[in-house]
Amino acid sequence: MLKAKTINGIFCWARDVEKGNDFFCPECGEKLILKKGVYKVHHFSHFPTSFCEYGRGETIYHLMTKQKIYDILKKDPLVTYVDVEVRLEYCRADILFIKNNKKIAIEVQLSNISIEEISSRTYNYMRMGIAVLWLRSIYPLYCNSNEYLPPPLEKYIHCLYFGRVYYWLNDGDLIKAGHFEQRSEVKENDWLGWNTRVYFKRKVVRFGSELSLLKDFNIKFRQGWEGGSLSIPKGVLYMDEKLAWWEKKNNSAKSYFDQSSYFGDLNAK
Ligand SMILES: [Zn+2]
Repeated sequence: MLKAKTINGIFCWARDVEKGNDFFCPECGEKLILKKGVYKVHHFSHFPTSFCEYGRGETIYHLMTKQKIYDILKKDPLVTYVDVEVRLEYCRADILFIKNNKKIAIEVQLSNISIEEISSRTYNYMRMGIAVLWLRSIYPLYCNSNEYLPPPLEKYIHCLYFGRVYYWLNDGDLIKAGHFEQRSEVKENDWLGWNTRVYFKRKVVRFGSELSLLKDFNIKFRQGWEGGSLSIPKGVLYMDEKLAWWEKKNNSAKSYFDQSSYFGDLNAK
């Protein structure tokens, strides 16, 4: 975790404090270890003997992403409030910010979260009047190999966001959206003089243009949807406004955006 409480109960960032003081977990109140120096991003963690789940499994990559997005949003005049690891009624948001009087949460800690949790949190964010962006902080480098096996969690997010998964590009300040496409291919084999054809399907990722977190994204409402084994909840999403770049005609993407009038009254409290 990037933030902890001091002995006086005040929140502090690991990067702003020094060793030799005591720091406590905002969830369980236990004493924490301050990790500075050799670590790429200063942070707090529990002692190995702790049973508290808060902050568990968080990688340096996640911490860096959270801190970097916070720093970008903090500098932007469009953003009137931003904080990390914010305790809310139903969950703790990795990043919470306010833009144009609208509350938006960004979730980057996706490696140890289940599909059920993504679903229930998306729904709960809507109940709290907060739009959500599920962002992959791990950019799949092997995407460029033109062959990609998206994990179930990415397939779910793909469905939730009408055919997009967002990846944070850690070397820049931008996001790339990927669309998974099923492609059928035929492979001809010549085996001992027998000509055989093998049909197979594979997923290919098609990337859209790079997106700015503030300029290219807006708040959209989505209806719930059920199909096959998938159940997508109603939700308020923070997503890009680009049309479906993977289609020749962009009609289907447009129709999703036209039903966004629900948000007219989604004001920050
Ligand atoms: Zn704790």
